[in-house]
Amino acid sequence: MEGDIIMNNDLKRSIILDNYQFPSNRKIPNDDSYIKINTNNESCIDNIDLYVKVENDIIKDINFEGEACAISISTTSIMTKLLIGKSIKEALNIIRNYQNMIEEKDYDANILKEAIVYNETYKQPSRIKCATLTWNGMEKLLKDKFLN
Ligand code: ZN
Repeated sequence: MEGDIIMNNDLKRSIILDNYQFPSNRKIPNDDSYIKINTNNESCIDNIDLYVKVENDIIKDINFEGEACAISISTTSIMTKLLIGKSIKEALNIIRNYQNMIEEKDYDANILKEAIVYNETYKQPSRIKCATLTWNGMEKLLKDKFLN
């Protein structure tokens, strides 16, 4: 689509494949300061636990583990890299822009970085849940635990 950062399909595929085969932050944390939320998608195999560590309003770390498809694993890997180090408000803004992109609304491609590889997910409606599962879970966790 015009206006989007130029990224050809080969590059998109290689970023998705790389984050699926070698995901970042895919592990179960070994301390209990993380908040956990389960996300699962009945229309696919996706069943991912997210673990989030927040200190002084900053996301210090995110880990995840579970069984899921390539779209779901890769986008979760990319999400962790984007959100670690951000404030709760910054993280929620990034998540909203990602959701807007998936829903074909206006979004800021610059803050989504690698995550724009999913900008044509709307062409495969069956994959929309896979692409948004953990982003929606992260949004719910942050809103439930840190906004009131
Ligand atoms: Zn899936």
